[in-house]
Amino acid sequence: MTERTFSIIKPDATEKNLTGAVNAVIEAAGLRIVAQKRIKLSQAQAEKFYEIHNERPFFGELVEFMTRAPVVVQVLEGENAVARYREVMGATNPAQAAEGTIRKLYADSVGENSVHGSDSLDNARIEIAQFFTDDEIVG
Ligand code: ADP
Ligand code: MG
Repeated sequence: MTERTFSIIKPDATEKNLTGAVNAVIEAAGLRIVAQKRIKLSQAQAEKFYEIHNERPFFGELVEFMTRAPVVVQVLEGENAVARYREVMGATNPAQAAEGTIRKLYADSVGENSVHGSDSLDNARIEIAQFFTDDEIVG
């Protein structure tokens, strides 16, 4: 089934000028970037986006990281895009990520792990709506 998922290229990757390198892995995997913009997350946006983790010990560090430099928010489209992108990203901890995945190639640590991808179709819809209007997505 053709799906859409939500992606963020995180501050560690934009700081290292890796937007294009990450996009090359996404496109080589057969996912199409149907919307994309570079923005600086506000503290309130980052806190809301990661609200599900707000009791975790790393929450403060995570919000600080996500707001320290620009991010690139994206909508990706393709066959089973949600699960496919999770595969392409690799494990949360880059030390455990498979060869060829974005996190294996580019990520520094479990916190600064280069990319976000939605973990379900429901969350993809919710996350896309936090950053894009329908007319900004051109499939
Ligand atoms: P994923 O991004 O793979 O879905 P999670 O939803 O578990 O991973 O965590 C969300 C984000 O929180 C991670 O991508 C990472 O940036 C950060 N994070 C997760 N676990 C840790 C940790 N143990 N220490 C610091 N940051 C973490
Ligand atoms: Mg997650």
